[in-house]
Amino acid sequence: MALRFYNTLTQSVEDFSTQDGKSVRMYTCGPTVYHYVHIGNLRTFTFQDLLRRWLHYRGYVLNHVMNITDVEDKIIRSAMQQGKSLREYTAVYEEAFLEDTGRLRLQSPERLVRATEHIPEMLDAIARLKEGGYTYDSEGSVYYRIARFPNYGKLAHLDVSGMKSGARVDVDEYDKDDARDFVLWKSRKEGEPYWDSEFGAGRPGWHIECSVMAMKYLGETLDIHAGGIDLTFPHHENEIAQSEAITHKTFARFWLHAEHLMVEGQKMSKSLGNFYTLRDLVEQGWQPDVIRYLLASAHYRTKLNFTFDGLRSHASALERLRNFKLRLDTGKFPEGGEATMAARTAAALAGFEAALDDDLNTAGALAAVYEFVRDANSAMDAGSFTASDRAPAQNLLAAFDSIFDILRPVEREGGLSDTAIDELVNERIAAKKARNFSRSDEIRHLLLAGGVILEDTREGTRWKRK
Ligand code: AMP
Ligand code: ZN
Repeated sequence: MALRFYNTLTQSVEDFSTQDGKSVRMYTCGPTVYHYVHIGNLRTFTFQDLLRRWLHYRGYVLNHVMNITDVEDKIIRSAMQQGKSLREYTAVYEEAFLEDTGRLRLQSPERLVRATEHIPEMLDAIARLKEGGYTYDSEGSVYYRIARFPNYGKLAHLDVSGMKSGARVDVDEYDKDDARDFVLWKSRKEGEPYWDSEFGAGRPGWHIECSVMAMKYLGETLDIHAGGIDLTFPHHENEIAQSEAITHKTFARFWLHAEHLMVEGQKMSKSLGNFYTLRDLVEQGWQPDVIRYLLASAHYRTKLNFTFDGLRSHASALERLRNFKLRLDTGKFPEGGEATMAARTAAALAGFEAALDDDLNTAGALAAVYEFVRDANSAMDAGSFTASDRAPAQNLLAAFDSIFDILRPVEREGGLSDTAIDELVNERIAAKKARNFSRSDEIRHLLLAGGVILEDTREGTRWKRK
């Protein structure tokens, strides 16, 4: 069966295809860099990593853009409280985000883009919305008039017929149940950072940044737009309203939303205070690969309850998998005999692939592999696992690990030698020159994960250990 995903837009599982049959234009909403991300946020980013890897496994070329929201109410509030510029304030958390995602082995998107570096494009988009009659001004701010967009509500499947006309909202923290005109350009408030524009001094609303950056780098129609489920409404609904009002084309063909990481029945969130950051857990001695494993283990559309028991059981399951790999790689098995496990191994690989093709069912894929490991271990105990069974089994584990990426041991922090660091730094310089930014970002991640910080200066790239 073909690769298929549940599409929030149509509320059904659909066969996946891309516009050109090969590359995937994918946009995912990135972090708001006002604080460290918590492992709930990281569940969504891990889902996006698994999605990337599975698309790649199926032969697609990724063109994935992720934004960094670096201007927003909470950021402004905190930066002002600390007497810092926006950039000074957000740089710390952006770096921390890269460090966390590197530790979880999340692949870098092809592009990571900052909102504050796209203000002219946002102003241009707002001007086009204004020309089309989609906006109105109020007290120096510009709002999107959702009544002007007849399809409003099509993603969240919301009946907006009874909505209050003209009800406005201009904060970045939205009420999830209430369809309201949202702000595109917020007029400057005393003491806040601002940009001059034809709409007056101010700053962009949150939603416009994603529409603009997605279309700038990926074109008017995306193949996939993904994010956490709480972004469906109003954020993604508003992105559709903005983008489609400008282009009159479908903004995104597939909308994929990840369910929440929960704590005792409630969503893990900053505001409830029931959250853990990756660094909290690492400080307590938990390995990032165990956390990756836990986050990847449940199907992305089911809620996952976070518990320390869950972590403990994933730590031992990971141990078992690694022990099996060691036994497989180094064990002595009877030579000469037929591969007795051939059909079993092929079935496990088929089961693994079928589960991931089925809306990225990671739980099903894991079950196929666990079952194989159990059978192979028994066959090894019984002496019926032959030397010719080894290579196909190793292939299966390699396929598994190209997605789950948990079997190789963690590089110990700070364990990189000076020479290894120099080599990576030089490779990064070469990659940048060759405009291979995904490799240069990847190297930056690798170094960060190894506790090495890079500084690009006019004299060249310097590095230091943390
Ligand atoms: P934010 O930085 O708040 O914009 O959130 C970044 C991403 O994390 C978004 O895609 C959110 O939907 C997602 N997210 C927030 N809380 C959780 C949670 N408890 N579980 C899974 N994803 C979450
Ligand atoms: Zn977004």
